[in-house]
Formats: sequence, C-alpha cells, structure tokens
Amino acid sequence: MAQPDGGAVLVLRTSYSEVVQTDRRPATMMTAARMWLTGRDPSSTTRHRDVKSGGSRAAVLGAGDGLITNVSLVLGVAGASTNVSTVRLAGVAGLLAGAFSMAAGELVSVRAQKELAEKELDVERRELADEPEAEMRELAAMYRARGVPADDAMTVAQILSANEHVALDTHARLELGIDPEDSGQPVKAAAFSFVSFTIGAILPLFPWFFTRGTSAVLLSIVIGAVAALLLGAFIGSMAGRSVVGTALRQLLVAALAAGITFGVGHLLGVQAT
Ligand SMILES: [Zn+2]
Repeated sequence: MAQPDGGAVLVLRTSYSEVVQTDRRPATMMTAARMWLTGRDPSSTTRHRDVKSGGSRAAVLGAGDGLITNVSLVLGVAGASTNVSTVRLAGVAGLLAGAFSMAAGELVSVRAQKELAEKELDVERRELADEPEAEMRELAAMYRARGVPADDAMTVAQILSANEHVALDTHARLELGIDPEDSGQPVKAAAFSFVSFTIGAILPLFPWFFTRGTSAVLLSIVIGAVAALLLGAFIGSMAGRSVVGTALRQLLVAALAAGITFGVGHLLGVQAT
C-alpha cells in the first residue's frame, strides 16, 4: 500500500467509504479522483464550458443549418419569382426536408454510437468480472501514464476498484472515453435537431406569410443577416473564440449561400420566362 502523502488520498478514502456505505452513485468518488489527478478544486466547474453533452451547442448548430438552408432556398426561389405561394411552398418544403433529414441522420448516428458504447461497456464489465487483478493493474498504469507516482497510482487504483460501479465508471471514462450513465439518446437527439433546424429555417420564411415582393425579399435578407450574426456570436462565445469574428464568418457564409442561389435562381427564372 502506498504512503498517502496528501489530502487527495484522504478525500478518496472518505468518499470511498461513503460510496460503499450508501452504495450511491460514484459521483463523489469521481470528483475526488479528478481532483487528485488535476490538483484542482472540482467544485469550481464554472470556468469550464459544457464541452461534451452540449445540448445548446447542438441546438445552435441545428438552427444555423436551418437558417442557411432556407435563407438561400427562399432567396433563390425569390430570385426567379417573387410569387408569394411559390416562395412559401419552396420554403416550407425546404424546412420539412431539411428537418427530417437532420433528424434521421441524428437518429442513425447517435443510435450507432450508443450501440457501440454499450458493446464496449459490456466487454469492460466482463473483463472486470473475469480479471479484476489485471484490470486494477491496468487502471494503475493509466494513472501512472497521467503522471501519478507509481505507489499512489496503485493506491488510487485499489480504492477505485473496490466498488464495481466505481470501477466500471472509471474504466469506461479513462479507457473508453464513455460516460456509462449517458451513452446517448437517439430519439431525443433526433427530435432536438428537428426542432432546432425548424426554428432556423422558419426565420427567413416568416416575411412571406405577411408581405410580398421586394419588401419580403428585403425582410428575408435582414432577418437572415441578423439571425446569422446572433447565431455566429453565440457559437463563438460557446467555443471560446472571437465573438465578432465568428459572427461575421457566419454572416459571410449565409450571404454567400444566399447570394449564389439568388443569382442562380435569377438566371434560371429569366431563362424559364
Ligand atoms: Zn479496463
């Protein structure tokens, strides 16, 4: 057994006995382990952005997709004909097609990811049951590789391996990079991207339900530009990048897409008449 030289091992021991006594979720345990590894107070998580399960990130990206798709679709059709019902029809069709396609893509990919994660977790669970000693040494090796001194790594590994939930959780996170509590929710993800795409796609279409002609075109452009700037700013602040830069880039992408489709629509519209 290693010489516990700091408070972290004490914290680990204390939370360990808590976990064992109450058989709670290993959250306290994991927090203590993280503190041990990073030397940071894990309760101060406010400095960190929600990197992984970014629901708001997915929502913003989905809305951005919907916006660019329909800004260019609505203006592309309007470039050929400002007939209100033609533009409306194209916009609604684009909204539905895009939203369904995004949802289907999300359903397939999150489901595949979830199945893969669960398969890997099963393998890990079996390994932990069949060869607990080897798995504990593997865990110690992973902590050593992260810079924990050998004796302490073994201590941490022993503590973490004593409870099967904690052991599986630790192996899943360190070895597989999986959160065993949350391996993905395909239907939720699909519904989420459907809704967020719809929100983005409906914005440039909006004016065509109230007005027509040039004023509708101009309103679509203004709404599209403002929404692109806001979404870009939001994406930038979430990613920790320059807010102004990301906002302008998002605007540029939307403007390019809309400009090109408007031009093509205009050319094709002229040919058709
Ligand atoms: Zn393992």
